[in-house]
Amino acid sequence: MSRRACVLVVVLAVILVPWRALAQAPIAYRLSFTEPEHRLMEVDLSFRDVPAGPLELRMSRSSPGRYALHEFAKNVFDVRITDGAGIALPLTQPNPHQWNVTRHAGVVRVRYRIFGDRVDGTYLAVDSTHAHINMPAALMWARGLEARPVTIRFEAPAGVDWRVGTQLLPGGDPFTFTAPNLQYLMDSPTEFSAFSLRTFVMADAPGAPIFRLAAHHTGTDGELDAFSRDVEQIVREAGHVYGEYPAFEGNTYTFIADYLPWANGDGMEHRNSTILTSSSSIRSNRLGLLDTLSHEFFHAWNVERIRPRSLEPFDFEDANMSGELWLAEGFNNYYGPLVLLRAGLIQIGDFMAEMEASINTVRTSPGRSLRSAEEMSRLAPFVDAAASIDRTSVDNTFVSYYTWGAAIGLGLDLTLRDRTDGKVTLDHYMRALWQQYGKPGGKAPGYVDRPYTMADLKNTLASVAGDAEFADDFFARFIQGREVVNYERLLARAGLVVGRASPGQAFAGQLRLQDVLGRPRVDGAVPFASPAYQAGLERDDTILAVGGMDVVSAADLGRAIDGRKPGDQIPLVFERRGRLMTGMLRLAEDPRVEIVRAEDAGQALTPEERRFRGAWLSSRARNTF
Ligand SMILES: [Zn+2]
Repeated sequence: MSRRACVLVVVLAVILVPWRALAQAPIAYRLSFTEPEHRLMEVDLSFRDVPAGPLELRMSRSSPGRYALHEFAKNVFDVRITDGAGIALPLTQPNPHQWNVTRHAGVVRVRYRIFGDRVDGTYLAVDSTHAHINMPAALMWARGLEARPVTIRFEAPAGVDWRVGTQLLPGGDPFTFTAPNLQYLMDSPTEFSAFSLRTFVMADAPGAPIFRLAAHHTGTDGELDAFSRDVEQIVREAGHVYGEYPAFEGNTYTFIADYLPWANGDGMEHRNSTILTSSSSIRSNRLGLLDTLSHEFFHAWNVERIRPRSLEPFDFEDANMSGELWLAEGFNNYYGPLVLLRAGLIQIGDFMAEMEASINTVRTSPGRSLRSAEEMSRLAPFVDAAASIDRTSVDNTFVSYYTWGAAIGLGLDLTLRDRTDGKVTLDHYMRALWQQYGKPGGKAPGYVDRPYTMADLKNTLASVAGDAEFADDFFARFIQGREVVNYERLLARAGLVVGRASPGQAFAGQLRLQDVLGRPRVDGAVPFASPAYQAGLERDDTILAVGGMDVVSAADLGRAIDGRKPGDQIPLVFERRGRLMTGMLRLAEDPRVEIVRAEDAGQALTPEERRFRGAWLSSRARNTF
């Protein structure tokens, strides 16, 4: 290189570096814990090259995968905002979630403390055993700087041996990480503790992705070893639904599990990780924990990458409403247990019990007469961990999109198999959605460039089934309408018999009762149109007598009804807000069904039924990727 060229390079560098810095100056977070036992985290956040004009700092009001509003700003206190030299900057607070730095010279340092004491997938939890950090619940961020890269440093309390479990990308040392942008940062919950780590590689899958299980738990190493082998089976079986794994950032997916007596039960999906929390242990609740894990891992495709347009990009400032959660969540409630069954971790009876519960709920819930599965999905901001102090009508007007979606998943899988004699299945549909909407990826980690719409879902079904009329009809009736498929006929193809769970059993409706002062009291909504509803019974009523017989407990009332037959009419006496009331209970037959194997119902399983069942429920893991 000549001297002249060298000078040119130096000049160029001088020009380029500040420009690059202006566009890219990373936002630097430092998280420290001087009083973890008091549930406190200290946040120190530095912005450089802040564009002229007010800097709008925000605490989020929502968290990816959680649909209700959460006022995360409520736990923030001791906010100090200064320039680089430590001089306080002028500040306004236009609303409870926002701090506006009205004048600055390009450098803004924000320090605050934050309280957090809930171990789950949504909040922040700090104590002397760990910091369990859901980023939207904990980190302030700046409007307009969402595309900037981030560095984040975790500083452990004195005297502990904590390490970092996260999908954040590794930085210069084991405590420093990076995120390419705000979306990715917020999607990266982090467990900072002395957790146990298990690692396995799917060596035969394209790209040989690495899987980590970071478990903060109270069990033994042996229990975790066995659990990790179960997790590997789930990962393998789920991978075979799609034929490959997503291209995880860093080629790594991390299961972060907090199985601690003081945790709250939850599972929360992210692009390259999931948070799994439970107050139970591997020893006491292995299958329950695996069921949640299987659901969440399926999200690595379905919702994280096969993503509805309504959730992309995620809005941290408002509720995120989606009409597609029957698929984005509900199908995972179908595939979660199906993957466990295919992996040999549960039995067919366990799987059928879950399907039976979904079918019963969907068929008997009064809410189904009011809204479709699509409309139920759009209610998520009111029901998904939404706290309200006033009572709501959800028990009568809402059917969970998890449950309804699972029933649709089962119904669609069986319908496709039925009409094509097993040649087209729900696995084909999920693969087609993956190829078209998930696999193409995003312009940056944390983004999905080809999110789907309801019309896309319908069109993909039309092309997979090779029949647009079928797809139109299925969506119109079972997803955007309020009908349910004929499970009796469809399950019969697999040699499964749907029958009344309690034939001839008298039924007053599914009532929630509580014994209060020696009387049964109605403690939840009375289902619309149920015999109890038609008898005039309502929440808070205290039942005194049924059929002329004094009742002193819920069990007593149950016995009084059990002794009758469907069609019987029995007088009811109850007390409502100080007044004595009467009504007439016209008993129905318990509408709930159960699913049993033909061979357990004394019927012969035909070879055709055996083949249908095997093709549906048996492992795919012997296939190669
Ligand atoms: Zn889910």
